Amino acid sequence: METNEDDMVRIPEEKELRPGSVDLPRIERAVREILIAVGENPDREGLRDTPRRVARMYAEVFAGMYDDPLKYVQTFFKEQYDELVVLRDVPFYSFCEHHLLPFEGKAHLAYLPNGRVVGLSKLARVVDAFARRPQVQERLTDQIADLLTSSLQAKGVAVVMEARHSCMTCRGVKKPDSVMITSSLRGICRSDARTRAEVMALLHNRH
Ligand code: ZN
Repeated sequence: METNEDDMVRIPEEKELRPGSVDLPRIERAVREILIAVGENPDREGLRDTPRRVARMYAEVFAGMYDDPLKYVQTFFKEQYDELVVLRDVPFYSFCEHHLLPFEGKAHLAYLPNGRVVGLSKLARVVDAFARRPQVQERLTDQIADLLTSSLQAKGVAVVMEARHSCMTCRGVKKPDSVMITSSLRGICRSDARTRAEVMALLHNRH
């Protein structure tokens, strides 16, 4: 996945996201335009329902635009637990914002609690809410780490994501087996060498 100056876009703040859902008729019109633009006849039988199907698909894969990840971690348990909490192999599906093609893989999360622990399913929901948007993997990883750090006030947070990008598979350099790995470390998981080594070993551990 290439990144250059032209790809840099301003990321809207969470509060700027509109409530509601994606504009289905608008996507349908746009998809019909794309079909015409590539030289297709959008009215032939096989394509007749394509704009509608694609619009519904986008509503699903971009539902995170209308989901607030914070709500999943606002309720937590008060618990004095001083060891790392690790959740590995959370599958995720996202869309590369440079090509609007999917990238998918697994997220591995860890945090060192500071009196607040949260249900593991809630962590998976946070991943989903951020993943279901036009994304780049680096930002996705950072957003999850930042939200866990601020909402749980954790002593340390580590997020590792590994994914295959369709834009690497079906276009451009065509490297189908390459896996992109990103990591975001916060607090003691970043600053303390021992904690950092421990958490990275746990998150990268192969089975
Ligand atoms: Zn891409």
